[in-house]
Amino acid sequence: MQHNIHFSTRALKSVRPALKNAHPVSAPIYLSTTYERAEDGSYYDGLIYSRNDNPNRHILEKSVAQLENGALAYAFGSGMAAIHAVFQALESGDEVLLPEDVYYNVRLLFQSVFERWGLKMQTADFTSISAIEAAIHPETKLIWMETPSNPQLQITDIRAVVELAETKGILTAVDNTWATPVLQRPLDLGADISMHSSTKYFGGHSDVLSGLLVLKSENELAERIHRIQKLSGGVPSPFDCWLVARGIQTLHLRVKAQSATAMKLSTFLHHHPQIEQVNYPGLPSHPQHDIAKRQMQGGFGGMLSVLTKGDAMNISNRLQHFTSATSLGGVESLVEHRRSVEGEGSATPENLLRLSIGLEAVEDLIADWEQALMNIE
Ligand code: PLP
Repeated sequence: MQHNIHFSTRALKSVRPALKNAHPVSAPIYLSTTYERAEDGSYYDGLIYSRNDNPNRHILEKSVAQLENGALAYAFGSGMAAIHAVFQALESGDEVLLPEDVYYNVRLLFQSVFERWGLKMQTADFTSISAIEAAIHPETKLIWMETPSNPQLQITDIRAVVELAETKGILTAVDNTWATPVLQRPLDLGADISMHSSTKYFGGHSDVLSGLLVLKSENELAERIHRIQKLSGGVPSPFDCWLVARGIQTLHLRVKAQSATAMKLSTFLHHHPQIEQVNYPGLPSHPQHDIAKRQMQGGFGGMLSVLTKGDAMNISNRLQHFTSATSLGGVESLVEHRRSVEGEGSATPENLLRLSIGLEAVEDLIADWEQALMNIE
């Protein structure tokens, strides 16, 4: 007897993927959370379930591992989720050494989450190797660098810290968000992990949140991080991975252009009588300029901060080509008064404005600052 397949069953079968052998040039977005199992019990292309693995995440992870000269990369739902995974890979009782000027949410993450789990935090002035050495204890298991740092653009000598850490069997990680692998490759300088908030330059268009960890070697640490990624599930969606992968295709062009503009604007502001100080590692006056020149290639990045003589908020409000907003690394220029965003416990000076340089014409950005600083109180 002929069995009539019901509407619901036909509807479900009618939308299965159609392409079998075509090779689309731009990667399709694989939204499927689950993958069919073969009759022999294996999984085609090793894909089972998208918390474990997903083709778009795979493309992104492979790409970033290559760009950073690493063995492996793992993608997360945000930069903070990536940092969280590194700390989670440590043991209770271990200590992490961080820069005093570390991105303020990393410090908060420690204080509000990890200290309760027995992980300890120590900070030091990361512009001084002897200060770092003095802050190392027997429990120190990880030295976490951030260079250039957020928001004071301090530079840490990655190779010197790695050499020091290696003599004591300590792991090293670098938050490479601000430099990107276009300008700086921490793993080539010996670090074990390079971390990114790919929300910033990798995505590049202020429309996707994600984070990345690139590991130098396929080892026990990588295995631990992989397990944390798969089991805790803080992974980016396929669309997020697709957006970041798309951003990577223009990363080098954007970062080089943003660096060139940041250099010109920094030089202009450095000579302006209404500006007390410009923090930009490309300026010869920057205290760690020589280190930056040694460990960064092709530019010094699209981020800078300034200490203003007049009221910083007032100057920020006068700027017309800089949107007052948090975050960074997008195609549009942003300005931010960091202290009021960081809140209680912030070590950022009251008169500091942080700038993320976009892709606008440098002449327009300089003219904007010129008018904003005119007759300022
Ligand atoms: N690291 C640095 C240097 C950052 O600037 C940020 C965000 O501003 C983060 C980490 C956190 O990344 P996300 O906001 O993607 O969680």
